[in-house]
Amino acid sequence: MSDIAPPVAALVEEFSKLPGVGVKTAQRLTFFILRSPADQARRLAEAIMRVKESIIYCSRCFNITETDPCAICSNPNRDQELICVVEEPLDLLALEKTGVYKGLYHVLHGAISPVEGIGPKDLRIDELLQRVRTGNVREVILATNPNFEGEYTANYIKGELAPLGLRVTGLARGLPMGGDLEYADEGTLSRALEGRRNM
Ligand SMILES: [Zn+2]
Repeated sequence: MSDIAPPVAALVEEFSKLPGVGVKTAQRLTFFILRSPADQARRLAEAIMRVKESIIYCSRCFNITETDPCAICSNPNRDQELICVVEEPLDLLALEKTGVYKGLYHVLHGAISPVEGIGPKDLRIDELLQRVRTGNVREVILATNPNFEGEYTANYIKGELAPLGLRVTGLARGLPMGGDLEYADEGTLSRALEGRRNM
């Protein structure tokens, strides 16, 4: 890489910091940009900046949004007494794509992971408990990922919600264990939501 022009090396380096992108892919992306028309490259750069400048977190559900509260929280047609807890905004998107869920969400922004040193205080769990305490919530659906961290997180939240005496459910089995909600197909996710069980 040492005899490569510095601007090219810099772009390869930035691309290779992206999740799932190794040096080989970073080089391919860089050369794709080099061959692209200037306005296409500019649109990409502007889209990246726009995300950073205009996207905020909803102060109720912590979904990514341009407006606060977000479009889901401020939609009067959604069931305000039902909260589905997910780890990441991408999980929320996956559930929205099924079209079967009409309640609200709460995005934790991660899962408890003792190995990585992520505890309950690093996630939006206190905010969830606060929402449940002050709102008129009938049911909380724990839709964390079907892996060790996800199950651990769901169990922790279940314990915190227990004294509040509302219905706490989890997604039905059938999701591939060790997987990520965002990668589950819509049919499987719909069935997991509809067949949810008491925890
Ligand atoms: Zn929201």
